[in-house]
Amino acid sequence: MTDDCVFCRIIDGEIPARTVYEDDDVLAFLDANPLARGHTLVIPKNHHERVSDLPAADRDAVFETLGRLTSAVEAAVDADGVTVGMNDGDAAGQEVPHVHGHLVPRFDGDGGGAVHSIVRTLPELSDEELDAIAADIGDSAE
Ligand code: AMP
Ligand code: ZN
Repeated sequence: MTDDCVFCRIIDGEIPARTVYEDDDVLAFLDANPLARGHTLVIPKNHHERVSDLPAADRDAVFETLGRLTSAVEAAVDADGVTVGMNDGDAAGQEVPHVHGHLVPRFDGDGGGAVHSIVRTLPELSDEELDAIAADIGDSAE
């Protein structure tokens, strides 16, 4: 619990939320400023700012819940698809510094874009650079 964290305060019951799912590890609730009907957030009950900060148990619980709720959210609002996303870090647009995954129901003709629309300045990468990047990520993942 972090006193100045809005999501910790929701977990603690100090701020109301429309809960859609809860267990010992995670809480899922409707986003207060929804991008679509049924826009849902999934958060770990333990306060961690970044995805990379999550201990394995919290990480697994968050991603398992996101996966499981995707179909529930889609069915509840009769959506045509769901965008599953996390803004992880300031540069990615994260505003609340408590890890959270978004489930944004998508509807044919809703005017929204794909994940590919979130970056406007695309990199130009040679085959050598792509090879080096893939190797670096692989090394970091070990
Ligand atoms: P992000 O930009 O990924 O950090 O998204 C934070 C999300 O939290 C936004 O979509 C907000 O609408 C949502 N949000 C902020 N405060 C609350 C709240 N008290 N209850 C529900 N959702 C909230
Ligand atoms: Zn928090």
